[in-house]
Order: sequence, then C-alpha cells, then structure tokens
Amino acid sequence: MSLSKRNENNFLAAVKSESDRYLPILRQWAKRGVHRNPLDNSLLINYPPITAASKVTPENYAACKQALAGLRPDSSIALYIHIPFCSRRCSYCNYYSVSQDSVPDAYISLLKCELATYKKILGQKPVSIQSIYFGGGSPSLLTERQIEAVLGFINNSFEVQPQAEVSLEFHPEIIRKAGVNDYLKTVSVLGINRVSIGIQSLDDNVLQAINRGHSRREALDLLALLMQQGFPKVNVDIMYGGLPFQSINSMYDTLTGILAHKPTGISKHFCEIKPGSADFSRYKTNPAIYPDWAENIRLQTLIDMLILKHGYHKELLHMYTHIQPLFSHQKQKWNSKETILLGLGPGTYGWIFQPGIARNMVIYKTFSLEDYRRKLLEGSLPLERLAALDKDETARRHIQYALNYGCLDKAYLQSLLAGASDETSREINSTISALGKNEFLGETQHTYKITPLGEYLSDEIKALFSSQQVLNHKADDKIHAAHHWYPGLDLIKRFKNILLK
Ligand code: SF4
Repeated sequence: MSLSKRNENNFLAAVKSESDRYLPILRQWAKRGVHRNPLDNSLLINYPPITAASKVTPENYAACKQALAGLRPDSSIALYIHIPFCSRRCSYCNYYSVSQDSVPDAYISLLKCELATYKKILGQKPVSIQSIYFGGGSPSLLTERQIEAVLGFINNSFEVQPQAEVSLEFHPEIIRKAGVNDYLKTVSVLGINRVSIGIQSLDDNVLQAINRGHSRREALDLLALLMQQGFPKVNVDIMYGGLPFQSINSMYDTLTGILAHKPTGISKHFCEIKPGSADFSRYKTNPAIYPDWAENIRLQTLIDMLILKHGYHKELLHMYTHIQPLFSHQKQKWNSKETILLGLGPGTYGWIFQPGIARNMVIYKTFSLEDYRRKLLEGSLPLERLAALDKDETARRHIQYALNYGCLDKAYLQSLLAGASDETSREINSTISALGKNEFLGETQHTYKITPLGEYLSDEIKALFSSQQVLNHKADDKIHAAHHWYPGLDLIKRFKNILLK
C-alpha cells in the first residue's frame, strides 16, 4: 500500500472515530424526528421566509420606500447583483435561472435601471457601497464589457468605499472560453478582488450525475489559474448532503485536490434536495444513491477535520480561511444590528436593518425576468413580498444570523432582548438554556457557543429562534415556497417541543 493511501486510511479512521463520538446522541434525536435531512433541511436563507412575508400592497410598498429614503446619510450598503443565466441546469438546482450561454445586454440595462431607481429613492444623501457581489446563476457568463458597464454605473452613482470587496462567482466551464487568461486579467483590473469558484465535487461520477457541466480537471485548472492571477481572495465552494454517489473517499479526494492549491477560503454547503429540482424526483425513486444522514455526519466531520488540519480556521460555521477577514460581504450581512443589503435582479432579496428607524424591512424581489422588466419600466421597484419586522422579530432574525459565526455574544444578545417583549425574551432565554442542557450550546463568560455536537444540527438550532407565527405559517404559493425553500418547519417545531417540554 502506498504511503498516501495509508495516510488516507489512517485519517478516515480518525474521522470515523470522531463522528462515532456523536452518532449515538444524534441517533436518539433522529428517532424523535430531529436529524439533518436533505429533504427536510431548514437552512436559514432569509428570515422571515418569503412565504411568511406579505404580498406587496401600496401601503407596504410606501413603507419600504420610506425605509430606504430614511437611511442615515453615513449608511453602508452591500449590493448583491444576480446574473440569472446558466448554460445548463444542475440537477440539484431550483433557483430562478434562464438557460442560455450569454448574458443579454438588455439585462445589463435593466440592472442599471434598477440601480437608478434605488438612487432616486435614496436621494442625494451620501450613502456608500461597502461590498458588491456578482452571484448567480453563472456570473462568469458576463463579458468584460458588461462587468465594466455595471461597475462603472455603480461608481458614477454611488460612493464606493476604497476597501470595498467586489466578488464574482465563477463556473468552472469558463476554462473552455477562448482567451480565458485575458478575461481573468481584465476582470482583476476592473476591480474584482474576490473570486469564488463553484467546484462542488472533484468526483467526475458525481459531477456527471448532477449535470455540472465541468470535469475534475477543468475545475482544478481554473482554480490554478485564479490563484496564479493573484486575486487577493479565492474561495472554493464544495457541497455535501444531497449529492448522488458522494462517498467519504470521494470527499477526501475532493478536499486534497483543492487544498493542494491553498485557496484563501473554502465554503461547505449542505445541498438540499429541493422541490422543482431534478434530484427531487430522482431521490424519490432511488434514494440509495444519496448519502444517508449518518454518512452525512461523517462527511461533515471529514470536511472539518481535513481543512482545519491544513492550517485553516473557521470564520463562519460553513466557511474556512487562512487569512482574515475572509468575506466582508457576509460580515455585513450577518453580525450587526445595522445591515443593509440591496439585491439587484429577479429572484433576489434584501433588507434594511438600522437602529432608530420605525420598522426594519425584509425585501423579496419579483421572480421572473418579465415581471422584473415590466415593473422597472413602470418606474417601480420590482418587489414581490415585504416583511416589516418589529423588535421581537428583529431580535429573532439577528440571533439566527449571528449564530452563523457559531457563537452569540452575551452583551449583543442582551441589547437585542432589551427592545423585545417579555414573552419573546423569556422564550429565547429558555431556548438557550435548553440548548445548553442538551449540550448543543456551551458557554463562556462572554458568549454562547455552538458545541461540536451542536454543529451537526446548526441550521436547525438557528431556526429554533423563529417565532411561532413563522413556524406555523402555511406557504400560500407553491412557486415561492419552492424558490425560497424553508421546508424544515415541522422538524423545527418537533425539535422545539422536545427541547422546551
Ligand atoms: S446551481 Fe447554479 S450553476 Fe447550476 S443551474 Fe443552478 S444557478 Fe446555474
């Protein structure tokens, strides 16, 4: 047996022994209906979920405009720019995207139109842009000229902070583009300083089964090129959870292949099997080709142990880096009472949280390109649903987002609860105490911290802080329920009942 094979076997034995420490407890929870399940995952995408938000009315539309117009002059804004075009459809995907190989210039005009609409509502006050994120879809379908046009428009309309993080997601298929080296150089000159590559897996069987449209070789070649290009931050996305044919050995091989290039960050994503995706029907007929919950526990342990062993630390529960800070866009989104995110493009979301304003606001945008275009041309913001959050719901939202870091500062928690009702404060404190008793949360002098056991149910633990109103709501619209999936509500209710009984 080769030395590397022996090292791999030894490492995988250590992974098994580590995950076996927690499996008996997790099995007990699983018997009571609480386990990480790709069909019933409760990943917090946004709080409250779209189906619990209200349809747009003249009144809440006016309140949203008022919240934007009332921003303090020194406000910092994060921009998310959605590029909803992909050359094909991955089997796990149910996002809004249109299948085509390029981004029409007409779409760039619509993005500019939306930016101009926001600018008009914000008025002349000097708000600044803290981060810009081109996500998708497949933003690497944008041409250099299109990226320049969008960034140029933003620079001319707003003050962009000198240290702003400007991110672009890459699909590995771009490696086949003629002149890819020149493309990367230009993109870097245009100001993109963080790139993120959706590798997901380096197992060609898995990649083929999920219709990713790239091979292991192509993904590694692109990663090498991005590293050579000298982007200050290079992130790699990997997936586990609901990927067919994924195994411990293929994950080990994926991680060692990626770690050999030492990207500045690695993000792990638990892949849900979402209604509307090709995997949803495949899973129903052939569940055996997907890892079961116990195998996913092992996969999660492997990812954690191997990445940490290579000198990375965890900046977020699902994000590892060997530099600081990894990702200011996420920080702006997740760890502050003041956070403003504007999503541009159809199918996006945003929010306005600023202490002192009458109501915080969560914004969901229209889903189709047609609606997006029509509303913009009418001179309106292309909104679909809105939720105005009172202090109780705001506290619940901020706790869930802060827990993405794996810990909750006690002083921060107290400041959130100071504005909340007695009933909400009591319930949140009882939840924290029950999580502690069940060893999902640990405690230091200044913080509560998700324990290694708790990490296996971290999405579920975060969702426990949702209000009864949100947990009990019934999705009234299948399209929205599918696109902004929040299906684990029954699981969370079970979890909460058991914990708080
Ligand atoms: S997962 Fe991403 S790349 Fe794949 S089809 Fe969906 S939006 Fe496109």
